[in-house]
Amino acid sequence: MSSDWITLIPEKAGTVPDEPRRFAALKRFREIAPDAHEIEVILLEKMTFFDCGSNFISVKCPACSVEIPTNDWQDIMNTDYVDEGFMLAEYSVPCCGNYFTPHMLFYEGPQGFGLFALSARNPNIGKLDSNHKREMEEILGIELRVIYQHI
Ligand SMILES: [Zn+2]
Repeated sequence: MSSDWITLIPEKAGTVPDEPRRFAALKRFREIAPDAHEIEVILLEKMTFFDCGSNFISVKCPACSVEIPTNDWQDIMNTDYVDEGFMLAEYSVPCCGNYFTPHMLFYEGPQGFGLFALSARNPNIGKLDSNHKREMEEILGIELRVIYQHI
């Protein structure tokens, strides 16, 4: 059986909101998605990749929007993964030679890296309403990236 997740991660990779903010955000997310099977705060010691599963279409250069070949992207991911976590070092992309961390690349659907996430399994709300996203950002005090994962 397949599942869907809505996972909120900080747009600035590695940010971890303090506990009162995390708790308030969890509470509000439960109100926004009351039929979710499970909503949890995820805290990690190592920089972790939050992928979108089968919602993945492509990865593009944020500077020139050219698609980055899967092999090149996989090389970046492999090189960056050290000691069970990602370093988020900057790598030159083949299209224009600009340097980006894996978190800065343009993922379709969105994906990203972090030490903190708020994740709802089978939230049953479709897309997260933009007002709700803004509200969660205010509660957590940071900009968020919304990842829709389908497995
Ligand atoms: Zn480029």
